[in-house]
Amino acid sequence: MKLLYACVLFIGLAGCGSGDTSKQQDGSTQTADKTTTDKVVVSEKSDLMANYKTEKIAANTFVIHGPLDMPNVTNKGFMNNPGFVVTGEGVVVLDPGSTVYVGEALLKRIAEITDKPVTHIFNSHVHGDHWLANDAFAKVNPNVKIYAHPEMIKEASEGGAQSWLDLLDNLTEGASRGTKAVIPAEALSDGQEIKIGGVTFRVHLSEIAHTKTDAMIEVVEERVLFAGDILTHKRMTRMEDGSFRGNIAALDKAMTLDVKVVVPGHGPTGGKEIIKPLRDYLNTIYSRASEMREEGLEDFEMKDKIAAEVTAYESWPGFEENFGKQISLAVLESEQAEFE
Ligand SMILES: [Zn+2]
Repeated sequence: MKLLYACVLFIGLAGCGSGDTSKQQDGSTQTADKTTTDKVVVSEKSDLMANYKTEKIAANTFVIHGPLDMPNVTNKGFMNNPGFVVTGEGVVVLDPGSTVYVGEALLKRIAEITDKPVTHIFNSHVHGDHWLANDAFAKVNPNVKIYAHPEMIKEASEGGAQSWLDLLDNLTEGASRGTKAVIPAEALSDGQEIKIGGVTFRVHLSEIAHTKTDAMIEVVEERVLFAGDILTHKRMTRMEDGSFRGNIAALDKAMTLDVKVVVPGHGPTGGKEIIKPLRDYLNTIYSRASEMREEGLEDFEMKDKIAAEVTAYESWPGFEENFGKQISLAVLESEQAEFE
């Protein structure tokens, strides 16, 4: 039963996290401490960001654009875009990553930029590749405040955390082992503004978009939006836990925000123009599937027709694994919509 659940999660993650590695050579220094055996092990695991540089995307905001692969033995589970903002009070981390070792690597990167402590963390949603690295920060600072959508806290507490720990352990063949789930304690509300060290973090919650647990965080003074997996860029998203209409609505809202820089959950950061490609894709899938369903077509009859309309996305990692499932999910959602 547990294995079956892990497989279901695995299939889901294949959509969420599959694809080619975007390799970035890093000129920064990563020194391995070889004084004791223990430290060598920790350093090897902490070195897992070695090929991914820290990129400054606004005056005080930084992102490390991680691998686009599935969690595996090579990436040791590192596969997201951890970000941080240096404020007057301390450092605020957004989506620290998937394991305690990813978190340790991120702590090293932060220490290269500032000696301020990490005081606050935002988690974008319940998928463990984004938040299980909370552990590393709670170890260093037990008082670190960790925020998330109230549904994220609920889902993580009701078995979601353990499922993701098991999944990452399987996929990385134990490289994530030792990670503990530090579930956020601070529930966010939509429209809330949290001021930290002179920086305003404005919260945008969705009822359902990529999941039922999504929080987008706007860093107001920096004019940066951390979109979580509501937005992926040049990498296909998965829709098993979400809603086409909800995700499209959240992307439409993101379009209206007064920001200059948008950080997707996976894939490269850009300006607001990076919102449109995924928005158009989801809209095409949902609207065409809905129309063809009304014409009486079955989902397998729609696939070739709709595929011809989204050829621009075939090169996005994860397209192959997700496209067919997305059509079926869009059909189901449009059927349900009739009863609303
Ligand atoms: Zn996700």
